[in-house]
Amino acid sequence: MDIGRFAPTTSGRAHPGTLLAGLLAWLDIRSRGGKFLVRMEDIDPGAQSSAHRQGLLADLEWFGLPWDELSWQSDRRPAHEAALDQLAATGLLYECDCSRSVIKAAGLPSVAGGWVYPGTCRPRRVRDWRSSRRALRVDLSDWSVDVADESGDDLGQRVSQAMGDPLVRRADGGVTYQLAVVVDDASAGVTRVVRGRDLATSTATQVALHGLLGLRVPVYRHHLLLLEPQGEKLAKLHQSIGADVLRQHLSPDELRGFLAWVCGLRDTQAPVAAEALLADFSWQRVGRADRTVVWAGQKLDVGS
Ligand code: GLU
Repeated sequence: MDIGRFAPTTSGRAHPGTLLAGLLAWLDIRSRGGKFLVRMEDIDPGAQSSAHRQGLLADLEWFGLPWDELSWQSDRRPAHEAALDQLAATGLLYECDCSRSVIKAAGLPSVAGGWVYPGTCRPRRVRDWRSSRRALRVDLSDWSVDVADESGDDLGQRVSQAMGDPLVRRADGGVTYQLAVVVDDASAGVTRVVRGRDLATSTATQVALHGLLGLRVPVYRHHLLLLEPQGEKLAKLHQSIGADVLRQHLSPDELRGFLAWVCGLRDTQAPVAAEALLADFSWQRVGRADRTVVWAGQKLDVGS
């Protein structure tokens, strides 16, 4: 049986982009008769507040994405540490204390925006990572990853050149998203990863980490994003159209109707229940182009 998941970061209330991502992941897996997991990604420094964690959960419950299992990434620390043990045993783990400004000064642009880590600290290998108080990276200089999105898009990369050796543990001891997502997807048996296009550039890094840890690689499907009028991803951090506001003006079916229309699944914005969307769900009907969304007084609208 296929297993899919929705893995929102608990850095704030849900916004329309969060809920579209959840809806598409839910439709994808339910339309195959698969199991749907929700994993609340609450390990980053900005995602740990209990108000954010509980607020986002309440938003998902309100919106209605009936899940088979709910988990919190912060409970998975032992599995993340076991993965660090495994990476240390490969001899590819190294300590790094290069600052952002040092990395920027190397001047290597990343395909994800920002700067590629130039590999300066690669000689500083660690095996006993538990005694280290520094950030830890994995040397991926030998990894040229071949991977395609289910839609056909080529997501292959020479990872260390395109993105840089990934940080797997921060100097404050926290495990990073790139490692945790791989470990948690694999241990939950996830076979299909459906998520926003902004994460497409991370896929090759994650496939390399799956490879180093001997884990099965899922199928990846990246979808359109909802954008702010100025063209940035409609991010939770902007708090521009948070679910606390949406919930005062729209019912879940009304919001779902808007989202289904904006992504191409429906011709009208008429309110719709999640089950009604399942009947004829197909990725062929989901548009590929990002859409700009604005909050127009009391309702959502598309921007130009
Ligand atoms: N937690 C990530 C986010 O909300 C998504 C993780 C994933 O789907 O791989 O952007």
